[in-house]
Amino acid sequence: PGEMVTLVARGLCAGYGAADVLHDVDLTVKRGEMVALLGANGAGKSTFLNTLSGLVAPGSGRIVLNNTNIEGIAPHRIVEAGLILVPEGRQVFPDLTVEQNIELGAYRRKSRPAASELEALLTRFPRLRDRLKSPAGLLSGGEQQMMAIARGLMAQPQVLALDEPSLGLAPAMVEELYTILAELRDEGVTILLVDQMATLALAVADRGYVLEQGRIVAEGKADALKQNDALIKAYLGGS
Ligand code: ATP
Repeated sequence: PGEMVTLVARGLCAGYGAADVLHDVDLTVKRGEMVALLGANGAGKSTFLNTLSGLVAPGSGRIVLNNTNIEGIAPHRIVEAGLILVPEGRQVFPDLTVEQNIELGAYRRKSRPAASELEALLTRFPRLRDRLKSPAGLLSGGEQQMMAIARGLMAQPQVLALDEPSLGLAPAMVEELYTILAELRDEGVTILLVDQMATLALAVADRGYVLEQGRIVAEGKADALKQNDALIKAYLGGS
């Protein structure tokens, strides 16, 4: 059963200087699962992802990826270990082409990506196909998000962590994007999805966790969480 678990955070505490943000956070992502991490503005969701990624140093606790401890190691080594973060705001290189942006995802890989990998990504994200040679800065917000996810997939992630991919996108685009995320999960990509829009995320995720002021206050199967009106009202602003 150990090998079914891809990512485990145990008793994770982290913050910025004297400001403690995360308190004793436990969270598990199993292989092939999509897990949603929910919570209001400022609950600590980005801090959690940034701690997983090595951008924020944990004060205490453990982070285990595929049976290897990764807490406190350098961000590039965490990328090499297979934990890939698609950050909030997507970090697009606007003057590079879409193709170049996507290829950057492979820069820590030992093997050069095969042409068939790009082809598979373009089948997954057909909107990007016609834009491959265009500067990424000309894409719409939703297309840029898709490109950022394609870049993350190019890294061959053990776990793909997404920080608020729906932020600022039109509802139709969010629906399209989340349908693609569900397809990726169905194909075996392990996903940790951070979102403020609880009902949206719980519609596609397998399980969810609710973060409130840096503590996990609820967890469970997505179906159960999304039917818990009191929980959604109390912690998630009814969204
Ligand atoms: P949001 O959706 O607004 O990003 P979040 O749940 O991701 O919310 P965080 O961004 O992790 O929350 O923020 C958690 C707390 O940490 C907030 O009180 C925030 O002000 C604080 N914080 C975030 N980044 C820093 C930083 N670089 N230095 C100091 N405090 C920070």
